Amino acid sequence: MISVVGFAEEPAELRDSMRAAFDRVMDSHHYILGPEVAAFEDEFAAASDVAHAIGVANGLDAIEISLRALGIGPGDEVVTTAMTAFASVLGIVRAGATPVLADIDPDTALLDPESVARCLSPRTRAVLPVHLYGQMRNLDQWRAFADEHGVALIEDCAQAHLARESGGAAGSFSPIAAFSFYPTKNLGAIGDAGAVVTSDPELAGTAKQLRNYGQAGQYEHVSLGLNSRLDELQAALLRARLAWLPEFTARRQAIADRYRAEISNAAIRLLAAPTEASAHVYHQFVVLSDDRYALANHLRDNGIGSLVHYPIPLHQQPACLDIARDPAGLTRAERHAVTCLSLPCHPGLSDADVTAVIEATASFRP
Ligand SMILES: *Cc1c(COP(=O)(O)O)cnc(C)c1O
Repeated sequence: MISVVGFAEEPAELRDSMRAAFDRVMDSHHYILGPEVAAFEDEFAAASDVAHAIGVANGLDAIEISLRALGIGPGDEVVTTAMTAFASVLGIVRAGATPVLADIDPDTALLDPESVARCLSPRTRAVLPVHLYGQMRNLDQWRAFADEHGVALIEDCAQAHLARESGGAAGSFSPIAAFSFYPTKNLGAIGDAGAVVTSDPELAGTAKQLRNYGQAGQYEHVSLGLNSRLDELQAALLRARLAWLPEFTARRQAIADRYRAEISNAAIRLLAAPTEASAHVYHQFVVLSDDRYALANHLRDNGIGSLVHYPIPLHQQPACLDIARDPAGLTRAERHAVTCLSLPCHPGLSDADVTAVIEATASFRP
């Protein structure tokens, strides 16, 4: 079976460096907020074109901490997309703010600025675009949009490690941004982990306090924070994996280039290609089909796995039925949710695997 995740195919050299990282932490006897976290924060900040990265427990907390560091909370509204992981919205709720859902551009499945404009109110404090599937688009326009409307921009970069647009990396376009290192992300830990990134030293300081019980110094609590510390062990493992990320990302892009060039079936549509100015990191390679589950079954019959990201838009989740939204509706997110299918696209795929996926898409008849 050609799997949608590639853990089994990872290079032995990477597994060895992860074991060495594990031993290093075991032997250091320093398990929380030590040298591995500090070194990973420096290395990840450099990779993301920002001055500071603050390691936290997961991506959900990274969103909550980003909002709280900006002083966004009860009474404030934050506009985000209906087509994202549940955590994008839950992080807003956890910060005490009110999420408002906007619709997507059907060609990319990314947040649509016209829909966001319809969601603005005098209480709007931030817009939270998600670099869905690893795509970065129109960040300069989003920055201008945020300035024009006097709201903060906060990037959800959980799917976009090393993605770039016009010279800036994911996370460097907004004053503060959130990453997840959930195991299946492009950069993943061996468990839960996340980071907040910023180039503003004050926001970095606030985020550091918030992740550690709101402490300014030992036993001095200046705010009501969280326990959202990144473990030394996960930081050490992430450092080993970060060293491989550029190569792994290039492989994802090469696979996606072949899919774009060679998938040819009138019953399968592709999302828009990345612009000249952008580096899509293909956390997922998503196709659209009116008979998406028939396509998934056909792929499975040919030994190929696939997944759906995401089958239910946020406003149709049982926990979110009352959520505020674009008064014009979220019909494009609804349409995307019933047509999207993610093909295998990870560095563990061989050229023969990629050919097999392309051939299976060619023989699909709805
Ligand atoms: C994975 C993900 C998150 C949440 O990350 P966790 O580490 O699982 O909490 C947030 N937003 C998006 C877009 C994600 O894909």
